[in-house]
Amino acid sequence: MENIELKRFWEQVKEEIVATLPANAHPWVYPLEVSGYDKGILTLVTGQMMGRDLLRKNHYAEMVNALKKISGNENSGINIIYDESFAKSLKKENEKIKKKANEAILKEQAMENLSNMQSASNLNLKYKFENFVVGNNNKFAHSAAMAVAKNPSVKYNPLFIYGASGLGKTHLMQAIGHYTLFNNPKLKVKYTKTEDYINDFISNSRNSKDTIENMSKFNRKYTNIDIILIDDIQFIESKNKTMTQMQHTFDTLYNKGKQIVITSDRLPKDIPTLTAALCSRFEMGLMVELTPPEVHTRYDIVKKLATDNGLVFEDKALMYIAKNYKNNVRELEGAFTKVCAYAEMTEQELTLNLAKEVLKCDETEAEISVDEIIKVTSEYFKIDAKEIKSSARAQKTSEARQIAIYLSRELTGKGFVNIAEFFNKKHTTIMYAYEKVKKAINTDKKISIAVREIKQGLKVL
Ligand code: ADP
Ligand code: MG
Repeated sequence: MENIELKRFWEQVKEEIVATLPANAHPWVYPLEVSGYDKGILTLVTGQMMGRDLLRKNHYAEMVNALKKISGNENSGINIIYDESFAKSLKKENEKIKKKANEAILKEQAMENLSNMQSASNLNLKYKFENFVVGNNNKFAHSAAMAVAKNPSVKYNPLFIYGASGLGKTHLMQAIGHYTLFNNPKLKVKYTKTEDYINDFISNSRNSKDTIENMSKFNRKYTNIDIILIDDIQFIESKNKTMTQMQHTFDTLYNKGKQIVITSDRLPKDIPTLTAALCSRFEMGLMVELTPPEVHTRYDIVKKLATDNGLVFEDKALMYIAKNYKNNVRELEGAFTKVCAYAEMTEQELTLNLAKEVLKCDETEAEISVDEIIKVTSEYFKIDAKEIKSSARAQKTSEARQIAIYLSRELTGKGFVNIAEFFNKKHTTIMYAYEKVKKAINTDKKISIAVREIKQGLKVL
């Protein structure tokens, strides 16, 4: 028999053997390999000495019967040989498989440990640096947080992040925690809301026979760590005991060289309940402020939400949301979610009209006029506004004119014919200018910067 034929033959016999033998014998059958078939005698090789012996002793007759059934030869016999080199290669193969499985398990365990640590630290998985959009309003706070995350206790201690509600304080603070745990899993991180800290303290310091033990547990919980994240310190109570305890926690950690990060909706000196002693401690390190994001950062935030969730939004709809939710990122996200939920329920596309229908924002911002666009564009290019409307052909002038035309089409909702009247040009000229700038934005850095800055000047970005 040819090799291939022999193999096929053995596969058939094997199938028959497996079908007749009990399941506990299968593990000895599967590794058998065929080495020859001659005069009705099938020779099989195995790397398992025990397999050979068990099959020979307990299942020989059944195996030969199976062979007879397939070959039709009444004079069938089976010879099972144990082969040491075969055993070795089998062992190697098994080890390889085991090693791979072990690696996968280790990796899984590491990820599980990380997420356990993250949840034990009280962190929300969403609040990572990867999900934080950086803009002018938060770039200083962001880089301070990053510096602390990369080098805890080295640079800014404590780091005090302050700003109004919904501007990303909790997010940024927890991002430090996630980053540290991911890059240095040995460090112990603890996130706590000021309220929870206070409640924990009160319940442990209540008079009972276990008070001393409870308090030492409490102290260990909050000082036997490497990074503490204390959120919303403005909720600290003026009670003497709580304040003393907080100071104790702070001093213990600080003196051990541990990182402290605190957030607040205002500066330490503006928290009326705070003692002077704590106030001066909080002011020792670096204080960074979060302010409301500008419209283009708000746009980036909702755009990222859309991208991360695999949602296809009309750009104008995102811009509409970004424009109308100015002072609070939480509300901005809320508006975004509301539009998504409505679209899903009613099975509609995520368009500007839908956003308008759902959010019903007062569009207080006046429509932008072509004259305004011409004014801001001419200021940007440092030319006279009249030149834009003229037919002067100097390069700077015609560049400015083309950009003003492009923006008029993009921002005013007017048609080409109407715009042409404003610029005293043929409407084909207007169309040509529009297309030219539209293309240039992607290829010409100078043009794209000009468009962006003029838009900012017009407060649409
Ligand atoms: P705060 O603690 O200042 O009240 P949060 O950190 O809870 O605000 O932020 C409110 C919401 O806005 C959160 O869902 C947060 O993820 C989101 N958010 C705030 N700032 C940003 C940002 N720069 N990029 C992405 N999401 C942000
Ligand atoms: Mg918060």
